[in-house]
Parts: sequence; structure tokens; C-alpha cells
Amino acid sequence: MNGHFSSVGDTPGVVNFEHGVQVIDEDKEFNNNLNDYLRMQQVAEAGFNYHIISVFGSQSTGKSTLLNNLFGTEFSVMSETERRQTTKGIWMSKNKREESAGTRMADNILVMDVEGTDGRERGEDQDFERKSALFALATSEVLIVNIWEHQVGLYQGANMGLLKTVFEVNLQLFLKDKQSTPRSLLFFVIRDHLGTTPLGNLRTTLIQDLTKIWSSISKPQGLETSRIEDYFDFGFAALPHKILQADKFTTEVQQLGTRFVAGHRSGASGTHGDHELEGGLFLPEYHRRIPADGFSVYAEGIWDQIVNNKDLDLPTQQELLAQFRCDEISREVLISFDLVVAPLEEQQAEASKLGKPVVLPDLGTSGKEARTKCIKAFETQASRYHKGVYARKRQELEGKLDARLKALYQGQLASAHKAGVAAFSEAVSNKVKAGQKAGGGYEFAEIVANEKKKTLEIFQIEAESLIIEGLAWTNFKSQSSLFEKELDEVSGKLRKEEMRRLATRVERWVKSRLGDAVGLEFNKLGSGRAGTGAPEEGEKPTEKDLWDRIWNVFIGIVKEAETRFADRAKSFDASDEEVDIGTWRLRRKSWAALREKIEEEVMEGNILLKLRENFEDKFRYDEAGVPRIWRPTDDIEGIYTKARESTLTLIPLLSRFRLAETNGPPDLPGFLGLQPRGVEVGDEEDLTPIGGVDDGEGKTLEEEMTVLSEGKRQDLVVRFKKTADGVYVEAKRSAIGGVAQ
Ligand code: GDP
Ligand code: MG
Repeated sequence: MNGHFSSVGDTPGVVNFEHGVQVIDEDKEFNNNLNDYLRMQQVAEAGFNYHIISVFGSQSTGKSTLLNNLFGTEFSVMSETERRQTTKGIWMSKNKREESAGTRMADNILVMDVEGTDGRERGEDQDFERKSALFALATSEVLIVNIWEHQVGLYQGANMGLLKTVFEVNLQLFLKDKQSTPRSLLFFVIRDHLGTTPLGNLRTTLIQDLTKIWSSISKPQGLETSRIEDYFDFGFAALPHKILQADKFTTEVQQLGTRFVAGHRSGASGTHGDHELEGGLFLPEYHRRIPADGFSVYAEGIWDQIVNNKDLDLPTQQELLAQFRCDEISREVLISFDLVVAPLEEQQAEASKLGKPVVLPDLGTSGKEARTKCIKAFETQASRYHKGVYARKRQELEGKLDARLKALYQGQLASAHKAGVAAFSEAVSNKVKAGQKAGGGYEFAEIVANEKKKTLEIFQIEAESLIIEGLAWTNFKSQSSLFEKELDEVSGKLRKEEMRRLATRVERWVKSRLGDAVGLEFNKLGSGRAGTGAPEEGEKPTEKDLWDRIWNVFIGIVKEAETRFADRAKSFDASDEEVDIGTWRLRRKSWAALREKIEEEVMEGNILLKLRENFEDKFRYDEAGVPRIWRPTDDIEGIYTKARESTLTLIPLLSRFRLAETNGPPDLPGFLGLQPRGVEVGDEEDLTPIGGVDDGEGKTLEEEMTVLSEGKRQDLVVRFKKTADGVYVEAKRSAIGGVAQ
């Protein structure tokens, strides 16, 4: 006996669907394999392009035989000798015919063979009859009512009982669904039609009976006046006796098959109930609008409600189905999204763990593509379900996708930010280095501006590549301006470094100029003929105004250096404040350089040599600059004393930095200017405190201006005198010696 699943080989779960699939078994259990069957038959992906037909009728009225002939199905048929019930529960099979009598049949016709119920005759449960009617009505577009010709007009017959059940159940079913109230077609197939009574007459009789049944059933509140035509269309066909008129039976079944195509209502007729269908039995309005891939879930839900005697609420069922399926579809489409996005997320997480930010190539393109694909796939399948639920679930899905992409994109821009800042700072440094190597002919401001533009552009291209039209969160303008701000901060730091480099260069220049100029002034000491008196107008400088000349030279060099520094600093957009600080530092460092140079000049050996030269110049040359040839009559001692005293006056002069004009120290504090705000001498390790300018050190300006300490001065006097004495003795000897020869 057929009617049970048989496993193929040893593979569990693989089911042989030769006879279709048993949707509901004899224990009223719903079969989990229904969806597999629909997938296998390629119906699952058909969307709304499928049709469901159920057949009703008494036991052994040739229903299965009819379906098998019409649709090429292989439902079990009662053997002609045994005569007992074969179909248990509800079976389903896909139409295996593509065409009938030369006409192409509708796609994906699913036929349900419902257990013949002679329950009333057997005195058993009419329960299943009612339940299967409910199930068939909730799902099917066309209900074939199979009936012997001789039963027509037998109002009390079993068939009429069945129809009464169908009508009652229908009212119950659509009570909750007043807005949509799907219609169904009751398609009467009259079997063993002898032909003596024309089909038209049979139809009239049947319609009269149906109307009678309709008026006899008790209708729920509010539907008392409803008419049968409000819910059903009717169709009629007659077939000859299968065994007695086998050939005719076959051709007429073929003919009947041509009617299983899409149809439309003939225009004029106002009432639906008794209309002529043109072109085909399947009117769009019969369709239950359950997408094929959700059919099994829907059918299971419906059956669950029916079996548990709950009120069937189709709109709720459809909403539940929509939620279930949308979630399922969402999960499915997320898999393909994951395939693209998860590896990117991992890469990013890995990189950030190592502290090495990566800018993922083409992230915008792959992200957008994955998102679009995912949503498109969801839309294709899920939009067939309940609109409200679909819209909500789509939003949920988009929310999930966007949360993932957002994290990824923000990570990407954070990486681009870090990488960009590093690249910028490196590029500027390299360009400056190259410029320095090439002789310093570079424009810092230009380098910074160019590199900033380049770096900013790269960032903006990345940010723009992440934009998805219509999604506000993909606008990363604020990240761009944040990036630009940081570039400016880095530029500021780099500019400060550049200022330091510039300052060092200028300081070096000052040092070298001071070295030459101050050296020159000290060298003049070696020539004593300038005299020590106050310089007359137009006369050549005297020893007395040594410090005036040094101070003036110093101020001149520093002023020039300041101009150089400021011009250059301005060229790379240094602020006035930065320039002020720079020049202030420069003046201080220049002073320090001057002090150092003076220190060097008055170092023991150096200054002693200068004093000796100065003295010798005065002692050994006369006023006209002619070398003296000592004779014994000469007042060697007088000249010696005069020259020595004259040179000795230099020592107190040299000891302190003092301007002849004011007989006081130069206005160093005035020259250095006020300490700019934000700079602390102590913080800048290269700035040594200056007496009389910086407090704290306890050193006075007088001390700052001291060139030779008291001790050194006395020491120098002693040493110089010794040196002078030596010169004198030598002169004396040469005078005597000159006479002796
Ligand atoms: P079901 O129980 O309604 O599905 O009926 P079956 O298709 O199993 O057929 C029951 C019996 O009726 C079988 O023995 C068939 O040979 C016989 N049968 C099938 N078609 C016809 C028909 O058109 N006329 C008559 N008289 N018998 C038929
Ligand atoms: Mg059967």
C-alpha cells in the first residue's frame, strides 16, 4: 500500500516524494517535509506564481483518479476490486503536466487530495472533515467538489452535508478578515454524466441547493444578510463514466485541463456567483497571497490553530508568518553580508590590537555593495509578505547592517586619520631635510601647505568613498574637519621646530659676526698710539670708547639678525607672538655670545699679550710713529713710566662693560625687552639667567657687566708690570750696549 514516506537508501531525512507529500497525516500531524518538497519541486522560489487546488467529495467518488488524470499526479487510488478508503489525511502534489490538449497549464499548480469523508456514513468523526475543510479554505484558490450526477438534487445527500460544513467554516474563517475576504472558486465536477440532462440544468439545480443550504446555516452576528455570492464563485464541468466511456473520459479530462490557467471575470455580469470564467479558473483574487517560500510555515500555523480548535485569524496568521519568514530571510541574507564584512572587521580588529592602523582598500565599495546586495535580496523575498511587518523588519535589518558598517567605517577613518597625520609629519620633515641638504633653499610654508593639501585630499577621498546616498550617518564631514584641525596642530609643532632650526642658524651667524667684530675691536688695543684721552670730534676711536664701539657693533649685528629671523619666520606663517618670542630669545642668546667672546678676549694670555703690545707701541715708538733707538741720554725711565701708566689705565677700563657716554653700563634690560608671556627662562635649558634682568639668580646688572673680577684685575696688573719691566730692562741694556759698541 502506498501513502507512506520511504527513505531512500540509508540517508536519513531524504524522502521519496513519488506520491507527493502528505501534508497532514492520519494522526492529524503536520508534516515537516512540506518545505523540502516545495524546494525540490522548485516551487519555493516562485513567489506568488503558484496555485493551490483542493478536492472534496465523498469517499470513493473517483477524486484521486480525477486528479491523477488531470495533473499527472500519483495519488493512491482504490483498487477496483478491494473498495476501501485509501487517502488518509491530506496529500499534496505538484501538477506534473505542462500542457493539456495543447494548452499550456498555469505554472506551479499544487493539488491537495483531501481524505474522502464518509464519516457521517461511517458514523465517525466529522471532526476531521471540518478541520480539513477549514484548512483547504484557508489555503486554496479552487475547491473542486467531486459529485456523481445521480447525487445532484439529492439535497439531503452526503455531499450537501459536506458543503454545509464548508460554508459554515468559511463564515467562521473570514469573520476576522472582513477587509480582504478572499474569494474562492467552488468548482463542481459532475462524474458519470450520462448526457441526458444538460449541464446547464444540473447547474441550476445545484445552485438552488447551494442557496438553500446557505440560508439554512446560522450566520454570525453582522453577517445575517450576507449572500453566498459574497464569498464564492461557482464553476461547473461534467465528465463521462471513466470505465464505460474510457476514451471520451480521457479527452474530456484533457479538455478540462485546459481550464487550469489564469483567468479573468467576464465584464458585464454584476453578480459573481454564477459567472462564466473566461480563459481560465485562476482569478487573481482567489490567491491567498502567501509567498511560496512561506507556504509551509503558514500552512503549519494554520493547521496548528485548527487542530487546537482555536479561532482562525488569518490576518494574524499572515502577520506571524511575515515575522517568522522576514527573520529567516534576514538571517539568510546576513550570511552573505557576513562573508564580505566579517573578514574586514577581523582585519581591522587585528590591526588595532597591534596598534598598527590599517586603511582597508576599497572599503567603501565593498561595504556599499554588500549592503545593497543584502537589502536587495531581502527585499526580493520579504517584500511579498505583510507590508507593515516587512517594512519594520527591513528597518531592523538596515539597522543591523548600518551598525556594523558604521563601526567599520569609523575605524577606517580613525586609521586614515592616524596614518595621515604620520605621513604628513614625515613628508614635511623629509622635504625640509632635503631642502637643507640642497642648501636651504626651501619654503617651509609652501612645503606645509602642499603636504597638507595632499594629505587632506587623501583623507577626503577616503571619507567620500564611504558615502552611501541617502544615509546621513555616512557623511563624515566632522571627521574631515577634525583631521584638518590635527594637521594644523602638527603643522604648528613642525613650525616651532623649524623656528628653532632657524634660530640656531641665526644665532650661529650672530656668533660668527660678533667673533670677527669684537675681535677686531680688541685687536685695536694692541696699538697704543690712539692715546687714552677722550676722542675728539672726527678723530679715530680711542681706547676709552672701546665698550661703546662693541655695544654699537653688537646692537647693529643683533638688529640685522632680528630682521633676518623675523622675515624668514613670517615667510612660514609664524604668528607675531612666535616671532616676538623668537627675537627675544635671539637677543638673549646674542648677549650670551657676546659675553662669551669678551670672556675669550680677556683670557689671561690673550689680554696680557694685548697689553704688552699696547705698552710696547707707546714705549718703543715716538709720537710720529718712528721706532726709538735708545741712547743713554734718553729719559728711558720717564718714557717707560708714562707708557706703563697709560697702558695700566686700560685694565680698569677693560674690567667693566661701561659706556663712555654715560659712564655707566649699557641699558641691557631695555635692549632685551620684556619677557614675552608664556616663556619661562628656567624651563628653557638653553637660556642662562642674566644678571640685572632675571630675578632669582641674585646677580646684579653691575655683576653682569663685570668683565674682570677684582682678583683677576690685580693679578693682571702684577703680570703686566712684570712684562713691562722686562721690556724696560731690555731697552736700558740696548741703550748701554749701543754706547759700548
Ligand atoms: P476517491 O476515494 O474519491 O479518491 O476515489 P478513487 O479515485 O480512489 O476511486 C475509487 C474507485 O472509483 C476506483 O475503484 C476507481 O476505479 C473508480 N472510479 C474512478 N473514476 C471513476 C469514474 O469516473 N466512474 C466510476 N463509476 N468509477 C470510477
Ligand atoms: Mg482518494
